[in-house]
Amino acid sequence: MHDQQDSDGPGQKSPEFYNKLTASVPGIIYTYWLSADGSEHRYPYVSRRVTDWFGLKPEALQKSADVVFGIVHPDDLADVGESIQASARNLTTWKHCARLKLTSGEYQWFEGHSEPERQSDGSTLWYGQFHNIQQYKELEQTLRESEAEYSYQAGFQKLIADLSKEFINLHFGTIDECINELLRKIGEFFGVDRAYLFTFSDNYQFMANTHEWVSPGVSALIDRQKNVYIGGFQWWQQQIHGMVSDNKVVFIPDASELPDIAGGEKELLERRGVCSMFAVPVKVRGHVTGFFGVDSLQKRIWREDQGDLLIIVSGLLSGALERHSLEQKLLSQSIRDPLTGLHNRRYLMPRLEEMLGQAARKHEPFAVAMFDIDHFKQINDSLGHLAGDYVLTEFADILMENTRCMDVVARYGGEEFMVAFALDDTDDVGGMVARILQAVHGHAFVFEDLPIEVTVSAGIAAVTDLPAIPSSPDPVIGKADHHLYLAKEAGRDCFVDASGVFRVP
Ligand code: GH3
Ligand code: MG
Ligand code: MG
Repeated sequence: MHDQQDSDGPGQKSPEFYNKLTASVPGIIYTYWLSADGSEHRYPYVSRRVTDWFGLKPEALQKSADVVFGIVHPDDLADVGESIQASARNLTTWKHCARLKLTSGEYQWFEGHSEPERQSDGSTLWYGQFHNIQQYKELEQTLRESEAEYSYQAGFQKLIADLSKEFINLHFGTIDECINELLRKIGEFFGVDRAYLFTFSDNYQFMANTHEWVSPGVSALIDRQKNVYIGGFQWWQQQIHGMVSDNKVVFIPDASELPDIAGGEKELLERRGVCSMFAVPVKVRGHVTGFFGVDSLQKRIWREDQGDLLIIVSGLLSGALERHSLEQKLLSQSIRDPLTGLHNRRYLMPRLEEMLGQAARKHEPFAVAMFDIDHFKQINDSLGHLAGDYVLTEFADILMENTRCMDVVARYGGEEFMVAFALDDTDDVGGMVARILQAVHGHAFVFEDLPIEVTVSAGIAAVTDLPAIPSSPDPVIGKADHHLYLAKEAGRDCFVDASGVFRVP
């Protein structure tokens, strides 16, 4: 014991004394000595607990500290060495955390704290303790995880709130932009490579990719997936059935592990470089109309609640699509006549104004023809209102069949219809109107087995008939109306334009 006087420090009592003193301390009390040149080190004193925890003998540690460094986790070893050297160099408190290997073979975290003291021979002696902090480390980890989880959840909620707001502020015509924005935000949030929306055809035989977002560097597929025949993919058909009838989410964690029956699907996904994917049904007014999906090109770990989170997104999409379809319906109702399905006057008038503008600016003339069913009141009176309605819808169909897509066909009033013909120099409005009257002649109007005799009169006015292009459609309509009156005067079943009365065979 005498020759260890220097390294043991002053005022040393018997080992028995120290053992008794340190037995009640939950950690390990020690002195650590490092020679001036750093080549030798040992633990002149270390509590007995070192044996219980690490299977190391204090007597051995009094000779060399090497074995202690042997139980430090390899990843922590370099830091431990450096921190000791720094403490020796600057005589600053040594405070450090590291993993040490227990007798069970398991590594646990310990924290050490000791004060260095320079000895007369230039060596350094530390007085200190270290204790197990595994529980704190685990708690810290749990805390970190729950903090990460909390911020993920908060981020997701904020995302959904933002997206909802965007969809609520949706105006006509921006639904596509909103969906694309949703796909981008969702794709970025979940860190996927692709996010997309597919729509099913009515009979679920085909599906079409309507919207797509891809992360930078990932190739877009939308143009290749505009009309995918589902019939060729048996497994996928089953999944769609699950989506449609049970609102099921389709999750493919690894495309290479798809069942044999999904051979075609597997091949397709692999060809497109897709490793895993989720697909969630999208409903509009209770019907599954398509699905929303995300792809990952790499194998990845999905959150357990990923499907649920995607269902929330799909709900948002469903809501937006539902509202959009309702708005479209209302919009079309407000500009269409419910009986015939033709546009109404509310739609026609601004279109005529537009056409006047084009006639003035671009010298693109147009003509209007006003049609009126002859003796329509008699049809109503003798066969009933429903027969009258029938004649109106049949005539509306004749008008649609005998006009071009650039012409505007509208129900102007009760049994009065108007067609605005967009013209070029070679177009002959008289010819087109004659074809319509001929089609009426050739059409068999039969209501409840009773044939109905139907003829129509028409008045034509071209914008070029007027001395100047008017600022409102009224003069053109007035002229057509006047020509229609002349046609009625001339005995009906004919049309009148600026050059006179015309009858068709
Ligand atoms: P004209 O040959 O001079 O045009 O005689 P008309 O009997 O066709 O003309 P009139 O303007 O006297 O009659 C039009 C009728 O059309 C009166 C109205 O009750 C009827 N009517 C208007 N809207 C509808 C409708 O939506 N359905 C039916 N069934 N009848 C309608
Ligand atoms: Mg009338
Ligand atoms: Mg009439």
